[in-house]
Amino acid sequence: MPKYLTLTDYALITNSAPIKRQTHGWRAKCLQRLVRLDMPVPLTIALSFGVVREIATGAQMNLRHLLGHFPEGQLLSVRPSAELPQWGGPAAVLNIGMNDAMHEKLSASHGEDVATALYLRFVQSFAQHVARLDPDMFDVDVPTRAALDAALRAYEDEMEDPFPQSVAQQLADVLRSMARAWEGTSARLLRQAKGAPVDAGLGLVVQAMAGGMGVGYGTTDECGVGMIRFIDTTTGAPQVMGRFRPDRERQDDEVLFLTKDARGPSLEERSPDAFAQLLEYGANARKRLREEMEIEFTLEDGKLWILDAVTVPRSSRAAVRVVVDLANDGVILRDEALSRIAPKALGELLHRQVDTKARPTVLGRGIAASPGAAVGRLVFTSAAAQASAARDEPCILARRETTPEDIRGMHAASAVLTERGGMTSHAAVIGRGLGVPCVVGASQITIDARRKILRSNGHTLAEGDLITIDGTNGLALAGEVALLEPALDDRFTTLLDWADARRDIGIRANADTPADARIAREFRAQGIGLCRTEHMFFEEDRLTLMREMIFADTSEDRRDALDRLLPMQRADFIDLFEIMQGQPVCIRLFDPPLHEFLPHSREGMRFLADALDKPLSEITRRAEALAEFNPMLGMRGVRLGITIPEIYEMQARAIFEATIEVTRRGAPIVPEIMIPLVSAMREVELVKSRIDACAAQVRGRAGVDFDYKLGVMVETPRAALRADDIAQHAAFLSFGTNDLTQMTYGLSRDDAGRFMSDYVQQGVFAEDPFHTLDEDGVGELLRLGAARGRKSRDDLTLSICGEHGGSPEAIRFCRDLGFDYVSCSPFRVPVARLAAAQLVI
Ligand code: PEP
Ligand code: MG
Repeated sequence: MPKYLTLTDYALITNSAPIKRQTHGWRAKCLQRLVRLDMPVPLTIALSFGVVREIATGAQMNLRHLLGHFPEGQLLSVRPSAELPQWGGPAAVLNIGMNDAMHEKLSASHGEDVATALYLRFVQSFAQHVARLDPDMFDVDVPTRAALDAALRAYEDEMEDPFPQSVAQQLADVLRSMARAWEGTSARLLRQAKGAPVDAGLGLVVQAMAGGMGVGYGTTDECGVGMIRFIDTTTGAPQVMGRFRPDRERQDDEVLFLTKDARGPSLEERSPDAFAQLLEYGANARKRLREEMEIEFTLEDGKLWILDAVTVPRSSRAAVRVVVDLANDGVILRDEALSRIAPKALGELLHRQVDTKARPTVLGRGIAASPGAAVGRLVFTSAAAQASAARDEPCILARRETTPEDIRGMHAASAVLTERGGMTSHAAVIGRGLGVPCVVGASQITIDARRKILRSNGHTLAEGDLITIDGTNGLALAGEVALLEPALDDRFTTLLDWADARRDIGIRANADTPADARIAREFRAQGIGLCRTEHMFFEEDRLTLMREMIFADTSEDRRDALDRLLPMQRADFIDLFEIMQGQPVCIRLFDPPLHEFLPHSREGMRFLADALDKPLSEITRRAEALAEFNPMLGMRGVRLGITIPEIYEMQARAIFEATIEVTRRGAPIVPEIMIPLVSAMREVELVKSRIDACAAQVRGRAGVDFDYKLGVMVETPRAALRADDIAQHAAFLSFGTNDLTQMTYGLSRDDAGRFMSDYVQQGVFAEDPFHTLDEDGVGELLRLGAARGRKSRDDLTLSICGEHGGSPEAIRFCRDLGFDYVSCSPFRVPVARLAAAQLVI
């Protein structure tokens, strides 16, 4: 039995009604403020989150009481009112109350064209948003009486019921469909990506459509509907923008400029008083509502009505400028400016763009649906995208079109390309929502997901091929195209300076190359928290030396190969130290299994046999001997360091000699050396004594003194559990939550993508633990490790350097545990700086 809901639990918006953002949403609160600012707002009623939740569950509604506030024949609108505007909500529905009788009445007072246009528009929006019918069926070029009749008939055919004539019925249907749309999966995931909690509520606002007949049609030429805003939505710079559409009955589809403009008539000239009043309302709203507002208004025979004021939708760049300007103008405090920007939104400002100097091959053109550019390997399914993300390998998701099931794949992809769709297609909306560069409707491109092939312009690309997506210009480009790093303006710098002044946890960057280090510095990271040195060995000339070292028959031969690698490593470290200008640099000693450095194909083996002048059979035999069943749990990290000590010794020497060199050049540094994959104290003791000996040797040879710190990466559960004795030999512990997550769950990070979406969908895991730190399990090890480590050594430095380090949630968690810093990829540094400041405010 459906519940029967007599809708008396609503709030009429007046000066004194008890409207709160937390119960009725931001829009209801905002409209009340407009009322308080003495703006001419039509009668408005707000429904609370609780009431809307009941409506969504299917409660029958008695709306007589509510409708009693509005005069007979009043057209109504319903708009969403979530707690924060960025959490979105279903599309507004206007002109509720249009029916045959109203059509007749309006035809008499305003003419049949007006009445027909209004009725038709209502039927179209009701069919699309409420009855969920295909909008194409209701698409017409000219709103004629015949088109209206056809639309009413189409509705009746599809629904097997005539178009509802009762206002109460129409309103009930609208309220129910909006309440339910809020509960949909896409809506939920999108708002959660913007920081909304799982149980975020939706309020709804029912409003009379302005005064009188309320439709923006009158008898003089000072009639129409418009919208005005006072900033440029891309840059945030002050500028009057918007539109005004005069009464269509007489000015067919004309749109006026707002301010005087050589190109045509403007509202400023036609209705100077109303225009001046709008400017005044805007300035007042900015000061009193402490926001840049976009005001929706109606002009009826010169009388201005304010229908709604929403915070101006804006790019992230504009958002930053607006809050900094508001704070600089004394309208808001700096802390409020900081708390108003969602840290993840800063990511959008940091997007790369295709280098204007590049001359790439265009595979296809589409709609520029979400800005930024990305290079990655082509994948055709969301599962492949997730698997790729789990391997930290950037990928581009190509789909004919996306559906709600693709959201997680889009999350995992660096960019998205679709063959179909427009600016408001699923891929476009979600891409923008997630800040992922996206090109949609690239119709010259054929995407064959079954055969994993993309064809275009005479090119055929297969899964795994490199492709570049330019979401700013709507292009799919062949291969890896050079990208430009983002240019950051002074408002961005100012905001982050304010953040730095507030936060109390350090932010470092994970940087392996000089290019990474430069970005880290530009984003004002306070040093490098993780330099993965193995990335330095994958370059072509070094790879052969590495392989020589691996295949060395004697310790002497091995040392010989390492001696030739030494100057290269030393040069790498000199570069990094110089770029970081005395800031701490934490270098992780060699970590991966040696097998990763060997060729995998027979062809490659043969090539190597030639290069090393050894028989092919020996190469394959040695390669087989090095292969492991489970290499990520095998001979890697400190285990290599113990069994083949020459590698760590070479690295330590390179670090120390680089230290002496940059100190000599005038930028002294105290390097930090970190041992990976530790699980026992004795491992640390052994490596430490060898590195200390190496330091003594370098000091002795150079006749120069230097300092360094030795620390341990906590990546195995045992290292966390034994943190107390490990800390006796370590100046710092850095939690590598990638491996720690893998080992805590017993879940391979390279294979998790295969079933992660099933697991999350079925609620086995609340989130992918490789993306969102598992506070209950892995977090418990962090808690234990931190406490045990600090107990045995109170000057122990604590940090996190896994991929989680850049996420606001993980930063909160680590700060609560008293960590000294977090380290994340360079592009997440600004996000982390802001998130850390918000924890203090
Ligand atoms: C980790 O395991 O968390 C880590 C930072 O190391 P890597 O990702 O290189 O294994
Ligand atoms: Mg690791």
